[in-house]
Amino acid sequence: MKKTIIMSLITSALLTSLYAQEHKSPAQILEEALKKMEALVDKDASKSELNITKVDTNMTKESNITKIDDNNSFTLGKYGTFKFEKANDNVYIMHGPVVSPNKENQGFMNNPAVIGGETGLIVVDPGGNYNVGKKILAEIEKISDKPIVAVFNTHKHGDHWFANKAIVEKYPNVDIYAHPNMIKASKEGEAEVWYGILSRTTGNLDGTKEFAFPSKTLIDGQKIEIDGQKFIIQHPQDAHTDTDIVIAHMNSMTLFLGDNLMKGRLGSFDESSSIFGNIELLENIKKETDFKLYVPGHGKSGKKDETIDPFLNYLKVLAEEGQKAYDDDKESYEVKGDVMKKLPWMMEWDGFEKNMPTHLNKVMLEIEELELAKESSKE
Ligand SMILES: [Zn+2]
Repeated sequence: MKKTIIMSLITSALLTSLYAQEHKSPAQILEEALKKMEALVDKDASKSELNITKVDTNMTKESNITKIDDNNSFTLGKYGTFKFEKANDNVYIMHGPVVSPNKENQGFMNNPAVIGGETGLIVVDPGGNYNVGKKILAEIEKISDKPIVAVFNTHKHGDHWFANKAIVEKYPNVDIYAHPNMIKASKEGEAEVWYGILSRTTGNLDGTKEFAFPSKTLIDGQKIEIDGQKFIIQHPQDAHTDTDIVIAHMNSMTLFLGDNLMKGRLGSFDESSSIFGNIELLENIKKETDFKLYVPGHGKSGKKDETIDPFLNYLKVLAEEGQKAYDDDKESYEVKGDVMKKLPWMMEWDGFEKNMPTHLNKVMLEIEELELAKESSKE
């Protein structure tokens, strides 16, 4: 496809979602469209490179260990045993328990991932505390002898990055990457807030301080090559939080979405989040990308639609019902039941009953802001 066609397609797709974008200027929208076009073109380029990339045969250590000693396995009570499983070419993921932090999961409930480079390993979101990090390290050693050379942290929430501490202890020179907003927010109080949350709920934070903050920054549109592995970074200005990065691993065609996507459980939004921004991000990813594997922050990874649709549909129901309630001058608690009725399949998601009303309230605040902005632009 020619660049101009791709550009106009993306631009019109973006312009049609104007409702969600009203807070952005046309220049910003166009700039974003151009960036996305660039990412798409690069993706195609790397796809063709893929054909000539030699198959990595270094990450086959697992097959040598036919029997893992039970004492040596990472087990969390009723949640069972956890290990890294091959999810894509050269990409290994350990899918954590899909529940909120508690004593039994010891603060492990995210999806740490390992990408095999030429001489070392790259880790995405190593987990929620120092002790979990040690166990993750031991599991990584079961799949490869290579050292960890880099770590990505997708956002500011401690359940994803507090385990940096264990990696830094073993590999003091490791590069840890995150968005500048993530580093700033974490250092300015968010790390302490999460330390409080996780120590109350899991009681397993010993050794986690002093925090091992990321020190290398990644910005929207940045392309980075680490140890022969190519990545393209997207920073949605406002989606799950304003600190998130979405990481495209181009060698394997894997997209790591962090908590912009969840499956099987809900988490929290905060004042830096935008539910409309999150919807827009997921819709654009659905329209414009064709990765082999999509990895949520929590819950099972998989193909595009099966992984993205449930959470995206949830957010869209919130937005629709929130708008109706706003138009009818109702409070969020009055329409809670209508949302529940539309999402019977979500009753089994962890945290649904607790988080949904908060999310509904949040989306209505966003609607109110958008409506007020509309009003004032008319005047
Ligand atoms: Zn999370």
